[in-house]
Amino acid sequence: MATLERRELGNTGFKLSCVGFGASPLGKVFGDVSHEDALAAVRLALQSGINFFDTSPFYGGTLSETVLGNCLSELKVPREEFIVSTKCGRYKDGFDFSAQRVTRSIDESLARLKLDYVDILHCHDIEFGSLDQIVNETIPALQKIKESGKARFIGITGLPLGIFTYVLDRVPPGSVDVVLSYCHYGINDSTLVDLLPYLKSKGVGVITASPLAMGLLTDVGPPEWHPAPSELKSACKAAAAHCKEKGKNISKIALQYSLMNKEIATVLVGMNSSKQVEENLAAAVELSSLGIDEDLLHEVEAVLQPVKNLTWPSGIQQKPNPA
Ligand code: NAD
Repeated sequence: MATLERRELGNTGFKLSCVGFGASPLGKVFGDVSHEDALAAVRLALQSGINFFDTSPFYGGTLSETVLGNCLSELKVPREEFIVSTKCGRYKDGFDFSAQRVTRSIDESLARLKLDYVDILHCHDIEFGSLDQIVNETIPALQKIKESGKARFIGITGLPLGIFTYVLDRVPPGSVDVVLSYCHYGINDSTLVDLLPYLKSKGVGVITASPLAMGLLTDVGPPEWHPAPSELKSACKAAAAHCKEKGKNISKIALQYSLMNKEIATVLVGMNSSKQVEENLAAAVELSSLGIDEDLLHEVEAVLQPVKNLTWPSGIQQKPNPA
């Protein structure tokens, strides 16, 4: 079998598989997943060269971390053979970016993951907190966690791209190693591209997540909770239908599109079955040998043109003013 490309993640020294395993579906946020399916998906991912797994205490109210931890320990994979990121600051019952909470959080995550350390600890969806608290309190607390050896590197995640420059312009160099952006490097929204030179200049590794726009670019469509405006949902549905009419799959070309930019170390796609792992691996391998289906890409881009780069508000800074 062809091998999955690995790419360097900023200055961390990690070489991540270009397809990363998004473990939020293991927390049943996109529907039910049996333990057998979860285990089979994680096993196949590891066997096929996927070495990066991302989770959070928020996903499924800690269930994603527990399921991922159980799978990794059941499979008895040597610790140095996989790279795990988890997060802190966002929980089922709300946000708390205080030093005290994030310091407790890593211990809780390590217990659920059955690990002694995580490779990356992200501060989760920072636009929901005060960015000044993130800069002045949370990142310094995460530095202490890094010094303790419980996390090797520190990251920040969120939706609005401005949060990354706000924080990175204010923290000491080297205190944030990684950013995780989502829903901004896919066929319908590629605005992350403009930020890449800045992130490179800061020496920060880049992870993009949600190449399928959290289910918008799939045949089954998004989950109930999806925050996209209705015109974006309709356009993505039309794009999926267009691909289906042509006997093609929207998810395949969507993932391939996100994988094309090699400045991005890895594309995190959420997976809950070995079938999805197989399909996504096949899409990546085909991309490296045959390239993308340009004709189909142009057609899908044309369908999505009216909603290109349309996003949704997220976080306390982005709340729309009441009319
Ligand atoms: P995604 O765009 O990866 O879509 C996931 C959905 O697509 C799931 O329903 C999954 O079952 C389905 N899917 C996967 N492969 C498929 C295929 N081949 N065919 C059809 N359907 C397929 O969205 P996501 O899961 O939200 O994002 C990926 C990961 O990135 C998450 O699991 C999480 O780890 C991470 N993430 C982090 C943040 C953050 O930190 N704020 C935000 C979003 C995502």
